[in-house]
Amino acid sequence: MILPVRRRGLLFILSSPSGAGKTTITRSLLERDPQLSISVSVTTRQPRPGEVDGKDYHFITKEQFDGMVENHQLLEHAKVFNNYYGTPLAQVEEALANSQDIIFDIDWQGTQQLKQKLVNDLVTVFILPPSQNELERRLRARQQDEEDVIRERMKKASDEISHYSEYDYIIVNNDLERSILQARAILEAERCKRRRLTDLPDFVRTLMQD
Ligand code: 5GP
Repeated sequence: MILPVRRRGLLFILSSPSGAGKTTITRSLLERDPQLSISVSVTTRQPRPGEVDGKDYHFITKEQFDGMVENHQLLEHAKVFNNYYGTPLAQVEEALANSQDIIFDIDWQGTQQLKQKLVNDLVTVFILPPSQNELERRLRARQQDEEDVIRERMKKASDEISHYSEYDYIIVNNDLERSILQARAILEAERCKRRRLTDLPDFVRTLMQD
């Protein structure tokens, strides 16, 4: 859709501890919104059953990862659970220039690094689980990870949650449909921010009499 006013794309960041519903919310936003695409990270972790290279992640070796860091091809990167993750720079630059919004499923470390580079283009949302019991139940329901991995994730969840106050918006994911609505509302409101409308003065002038 061509709009009469041009808009700079934005980076929509969703963070949460594993199991708070971030991935489901992200998928739902992507399905319903053609202006939105996802940032596909690179990672050195092994693919889980069902994960697709190039869609869920670009699965790469540690050597390839180090090369990307050295050549400044990553916008941010972090070590999480003994694996390395990073955001390729090229896809972000292209999207912003084309008025496309990008959704990021990254942790607090990545969010902080992005803030240092692109603070005006960021919209940050933290998703909290409704309770600790529910968080654990959701982690177990996945049945993709070993028991010790789940225990490690519960511990890491507390650390991730402690960063909630660094985010612009908070969604407590008690009811999935409502959480999706809230995320959509945040995105739509942020798209209307005056500073993102790049040629607004020119457009308004066309609406006014001399
Ligand atoms: P998982 O291995 O479960 O897919 O992800 C583990 C953690 O790594 C999650 O908290 C996720 O948000 C984080 N993560 C995934 N991709 C990136 C990335 O590109 N950069 C950063 N900093 N964290 C990421």
